[in-house]
Amino acid sequence: MTIDGAFRVMATITTDTANAACAAQGLSSELGARLAELLTCAVLVRETTQPTRRVQLVWRDHHGGVMVADSLPDGKSRGIANPGKPQQVEAVGDHLLQVNYTLPNGSLHQGVVSIPAESDLSTALMQYMHTSEQTVSMVAIGAAPGHGAAAIRQVGGYLIQVLPEATGEGLAALSAKLGDMPAIDVLLTEAGADPRVIIARLLEGFPYAELAASELAFGCTCSEARIILGILSLGAEEVASMEAGDPLEVRCDACGTRYVIEPSSIRAMRELRARDAEPS
Ligand SMILES: [Zn+2]
Repeated sequence: MTIDGAFRVMATITTDTANAACAAQGLSSELGARLAELLTCAVLVRETTQPTRRVQLVWRDHHGGVMVADSLPDGKSRGIANPGKPQQVEAVGDHLLQVNYTLPNGSLHQGVVSIPAESDLSTALMQYMHTSEQTVSMVAIGAAPGHGAAAIRQVGGYLIQVLPEATGEGLAALSAKLGDMPAIDVLLTEAGADPRVIIARLLEGFPYAELAASELAFGCTCSEARIILGILSLGAEEVASMEAGDPLEVRCDACGTRYVIEPSSIRAMRELRARDAEPS
């Protein structure tokens, strides 16, 4: 944050996290780059608005393409692109960006912004921050597709939040600075693995202090228990036929982990839940 309290800057490099997410799903570089940008966006939204909550972003294009990115309070992130469907998700064009998180009172915050044609994810995030979080911000996110084993060569981004202390003079100075900035891809190449380099470039000439830093990693929230709970949410008949059938093989779309669910485990969890539901 600048020491006059006018601007708060968040910068992140998410290359390793994104490559792990792409590898788990076997994504192409092109689709992987789109998912990598959404993962980066989820990290920036969580760190800016809800650092202690799980933030989920959903991006839909108008041809049925959909991507989901989750950023968790412990720094882990995961993403899914078009589960079961190999089609592309378009980088620009008529889109919807949806941001979900749970508020302290348990209610669900759901912000949806529609993104006009020729607009990208950075613009979408600025619009979301403005309409849903009542915050003026400048955002740049960029992913460069990789060659060979890694789907992504580099991905990262920054978000500058304009705080109420900002003066017209300060804003003019910042605008001039941003006007001189190289494109995000160039900035990311300069930064390598260190997001502090991006912040130093953005805030050159503005006295500032680093308030926090946190590690990011690829990680999933799936577990055998969660999968069984998902099965139990199906119709009673379907659950009964699974309890009577063979072990079920389930693969997590996000991380690729394979689970073998025994019919006896489904039965045990169902009975446990029925007992919990009984009035005491
Ligand atoms: Zn998983």
